[in-house]
Amino acid sequence: MRGKRLENIAKTPQSGVSATFQDGTSASGDILIGGDGVHSRTRQFVEPAFPNATYTGLINSGGYTSAVKVPSQPETIDFIFCKHAFFGYHVSPTSYIYWFTNWPQAQESVKGAFDGMTEAQRRQLMLEIYKHDQPFIREIIQKAETTFPYFSSYALPKQPASWHKGRVVLLGDAAHAISPSSGQGASMALEDAAVLAKCLRDIPDIEQAFTSFEHLRRERTSKMYEVGVRGDAGKHVIDPMKQWFRDLTTPIFLKLFANPKASDWMYSYRIDWDAQVEGATADTGSRHETVSAAGAEK
Ligand SMILES: Cc1cc2nc3c(=O)[nH]c(=O)nc-3n(C[C@H](O)[C@H](O)[C@H](O)COP(=O)(O)OP(=O)(O)OC[C@H]3O[C@@H](n4cnc5c(N)ncnc54)[C@H](O)[C@@H]3O)c2cc1C
Repeated sequence: MRGKRLENIAKTPQSGVSATFQDGTSASGDILIGGDGVHSRTRQFVEPAFPNATYTGLINSGGYTSAVKVPSQPETIDFIFCKHAFFGYHVSPTSYIYWFTNWPQAQESVKGAFDGMTEAQRRQLMLEIYKHDQPFIREIIQKAETTFPYFSSYALPKQPASWHKGRVVLLGDAAHAISPSSGQGASMALEDAAVLAKCLRDIPDIEQAFTSFEHLRRERTSKMYEVGVRGDAGKHVIDPMKQWFRDLTTPIFLKLFANPKASDWMYSYRIDWDAQVEGATADTGSRHETVSAAGAEK
């Protein structure tokens, strides 16, 4: 149901599940899949005592710009550690620049803090932030067709003990929001969706299907969490000495973590849609999976 805000979840007498929305309406079905993001309401139903998502300490914006000449290679995204912020951009084959920025802000902004900002104010603040950096960054910001409203980013420091309860299951950021600096959150959500669909297709018992889904996905998404933590770390460095050291050591870290061999587990993950999933049970934790990583069936 589009345009509704989930408020409550309850079991139905027919062993299904019903959702009540903020506007007072409700809907019911056999299962409920909570893909409601980092601040998930569904997660509160699955694990009521689970803590709220934590602020990563970074503010984000971005935009689109054309008609600016910038250094770039085809099929490449450039990332730059600037004096006070991080800047990323990609130049499309038609010379359109897609860019984003993160900058550290220790204090979490209150909800709605950026709502009243005008486009001109947003741009002005970003131009100020990048005033000591390469001039083409300011040109990209200055000439942007539009800039995105600022927003704070959040992550879950850990995953709920279980991703499902009864006929309700979590997926994507609701289950395992990793820091946006990993650049992998949407990929994880899409992978979840495919694996959950396979489990529901192949395992007749719904709760067992949810258990299998979680078994197949928990390890990979936990490992991805570390990628986000590493990605965030460098963006918080504002002390010039520490920046110098970071810039000195970054090539070493890139050699260690950004080479094809080290990042293969991240990018070569494959889901064999046609292969059957066999059930796993919560008590044994056993699994017979058909999802393959790096081309090899596990
Ligand atoms: C700055 C930034 C940069 C990122 N960069 C990347 C990247 O480069 N690569 C990448 O893979 N990922 C990236 N991500 C992460 C990615 O955006 C998320 O991991 C992904 O969107 C999660 O998908 P999802 O479907 O689980 O949740 P979401 O995309 O957050 O969708 C949740 C939906 O649920 C709705 N919702 C929430 N609460 C309720 C409710 N109570 N009732 C009804 N609906 C509700 C929301 O409105 C939203 O539509 C980035 C994130 C940020 C913030």
